[in-house]
Amino acid sequence: MKNPWVFIVVLFTIGLALLLGIALGRYSSRSLAGEMADAACAVSMTEIIASAQGDVYAPLEGEETVPVESQYLVTYSVEGDVITGPIETSILNNLTDEQKDAALQNSAWDLFTRFIPAKNRQMVVQYNIFTDGYSNTLAAVDQNPDDPSQWILEIDIADIKDKDSFLFTLIHEYAHLLTLNDSQVIPDKEIVDNPSDFSLQLKKAAACPTYFTGTGCSYADSYIHAFYTRFWLDINDEWEKIDVLLYNEEDDDELYYDGLYNFYKSHQDQFVDDYATTHPTEDIAESFAYFVFSPKPAGNSIKEQKIAFFYEYPELVELRASILSNMCLVQDK
Ligand SMILES: [Zn+2]
Repeated sequence: MKNPWVFIVVLFTIGLALLLGIALGRYSSRSLAGEMADAACAVSMTEIIASAQGDVYAPLEGEETVPVESQYLVTYSVEGDVITGPIETSILNNLTDEQKDAALQNSAWDLFTRFIPAKNRQMVVQYNIFTDGYSNTLAAVDQNPDDPSQWILEIDIADIKDKDSFLFTLIHEYAHLLTLNDSQVIPDKEIVDNPSDFSLQLKKAAACPTYFTGTGCSYADSYIHAFYTRFWLDINDEWEKIDVLLYNEEDDDELYYDGLYNFYKSHQDQFVDDYATTHPTEDIAESFAYFVFSPKPAGNSIKEQKIAFFYEYPELVELRASILSNMCLVQDK
C-alpha cells in the first residue's frame, strides 16, 4: 500500500440501567487493558509506527527491490475464523514454493483473526494470497464483484515476515473495511463493475448528499463522513486538482506525484504521514493505524486531532485495546 507507482485505489464498519452498567463496566476494563498494552508494548509500537514512515514521493532513491508483476497465488474462502481451500491460481513465474506455503499463508490469517474480533470482520468472505515481490504492495482489500457488501482481504506473501510494516499494513487495511463496509457506505455494484469510469464517479458523487468515498455514498453518521466534514472541507478543492491527474489519459504520474508532494509540504501539520494525502479514505485508514499504535496525542495540531478523532467512538477505543492486547501476545512469542 506504500507504492506510489502501483497506486492502489482501494481501495472499509444496548434494558437501560442494567445494560448500560454492564456496557460501561466492560468499556472501562477494556480501557485499562489498552493502557496496559500501551505500556507493555511501547517499544514495538514505536517500531511499528517507524516502519510506516516511508517516502511515497521518492521511492526510487535507494530502492533495491525490482517490482514484479502482481500475481494471485491462492484463494481461500472465509467462514468465521476458518479459511478453507486453498484454490490455486495458474502462475507465470516460478512461485510454486510461495503458492504451496500454507503455513505462512495461515500465519498471516491467524494474525488478522487474533487482532480483529470476529464481530468486527464479518464483511470478509475471502482471503487471497498474491505477490508482487518484496515491498511494493503489502496488502489490499477489495469488494466482492458479485456482492459489493462483501470484502476480500489480500496479502502479499513476500512481505509477511517484515513484521512491523506487516502489522501496520494489516491494521491500515482493516481500517478500510471498518470505514467502507455496508454499515458505513452504501455498496454500489455499478461502481465495482466500472472501476475506471471517472465520469461515473463524478455522476455518483454529484448525487450523493454526504461524502462520496469512491466506492459509494457514505451514511450521514459514518466515520468517514464525520472525518471528511471535519478535516477535508477546506483542502478538498486544492487536493482534487491534483487527484484528477491520476485519471488523465496521458501518463502523468510525475505531475501527479510532484503535485501531491507540494500539497503534503504545504499541509504537513495536517497529515500523519505523506501516504495519508493520497485520498481521504487513505487519510482515515492511515490515521486509524496511528490511533491504534500511538499513544493518545497530547497536542492539538490537525494531525493529532485526526488521531484523537477515533477516541470519540467508544467502540473504537474498545477495538484498539483488543488489538493491542493481542499484539503484545504475538510480539512476545
Ligand atoms: Zn489503503
